Order: sequence, then structure tokens, then C-alpha cells
Amino acid sequence: MVKVGVIAAQGAISEHRDAFKKAFKETGLKGDVVLIRDKEDVSAADGIAIPGGESTTIAKYLHRTGIAGEIIKKVTNENMPVMGTCAGCVLLAKEIIDDQSEKVNPLSLMNMSVKRNAFGRQRESFEATVNVEDFGKPYHAVFIRAPTITKTWGNCKPIAMFENKIVGAQQDNLLALSFHPELTSDLMFHKYFLKLVIKQP
Ligand code: GLN
Repeated sequence: MVKVGVIAAQGAISEHRDAFKKAFKETGLKGDVVLIRDKEDVSAADGIAIPGGESTTIAKYLHRTGIAGEIIKKVTNENMPVMGTCAGCVLLAKEIIDDQSEKVNPLSLMNMSVKRNAFGRQRESFEATVNVEDFGKPYHAVFIRAPTITKTWGNCKPIAMFENKIVGAQQDNLLALSFHPELTSDLMFHKYFLKLVIKQP
């Protein structure tokens, strides 16, 4: 029985928890969802999701509580799967392009450069169809003050595109999405992540 941890700092926490619960049910995979509030909670998780919200706030929480260090250790030593959505995508990046005055201190796990609030004020929040090659069908995505992935390198590969922009990337067991899969009923990405988690020894 695997455990998926959802970082309970700020943002779309309960939406992710509910999406994973539903994804377990629909796939028949055995597992449970736990909320991660302290660094001790990280050891109980086989995979971790970092929700969307405000990346500056979530980053501060992760570093202050020591959760950041524990995640980095488990990814480095055990190849633990991590899914970051929207603000979570920003936090996974090694490089952040940012014109906000308050800078984000990321986990620096994925070989990618991420631009915060990349769609500007005109398109703060919108829905659009995203092309995901591996899934063989288009995905309806919700974007809220979303980042884009401007560049990937090494073993980090683009997996989802919207208007020639990279909006999803994967590096081994790490999955970054610039949109909010927890806000739609299509649980394709949550199920995909569960498969990465289940594969773990
Ligand atoms: N713009 C936010 C940030 O960079 C992310 C927004 C979101 O997660 N919906 O932190």
C-alpha cells in the first residue's frame, strides 16, 4: 500500500488530496493520501505532490520546516517521484525567470528553466487544450497565473505543449505541470503519477 503525500502549505491542497483518492479508486491501485506538514511526514510518503498556490509562500514553508531538505534527500537517494503543479512546477526548476520583486528559492531538482506568470495579466486565468504526446489524446487544462517551461536540458523532457510553449516536463520520476490537473475531472495526470509511485520498490 503506497502513500502519496500532498504538501499542505498553501494553495490547492484538498483538491489534490481528493483527486488522488479518486485516482486510486478509479485505477484500483492500492494506496492512500497523507498531508505533509512537517519534515517527519516526508519519510512516510512514497511520492509527493506540490500543489499550485503562491510559489514564494510555499518555498518559504518548505525551507523553514526542513521539508525541502528531506524531499531533496529522498529524490537524490531513492528516486522518489514528485509532481509539481503550477507553483509546484516553479519550485521544481533549477532556473527561474522572474520579474517579481520577491524571488523564489526553489528545490532545484529539474533541468529546466521556468518563467513565472508567463501569460501576463491579459490571460491570468484560462482553460485550453493541451497536447500530450504520450497520452494520445488532448487534455483540457486550467491555467491560473501559470508559468511556462522556457527550456529543458539533459534528461528533462517536454511532455505537454500549448501554443508552442512547454507546459509539462518530466525528468525520470519528476513531473512538472504549469497548469492545475486537480481542478478538472480528468485525472489522467494523477493516474500517471500514481504509476510512477507504484513502480517504486
Ligand atoms: N503565479 C504563481 C507563482 O508563481 C503560481 C500560480 C498558481 O499556482 N496558480 O507562484
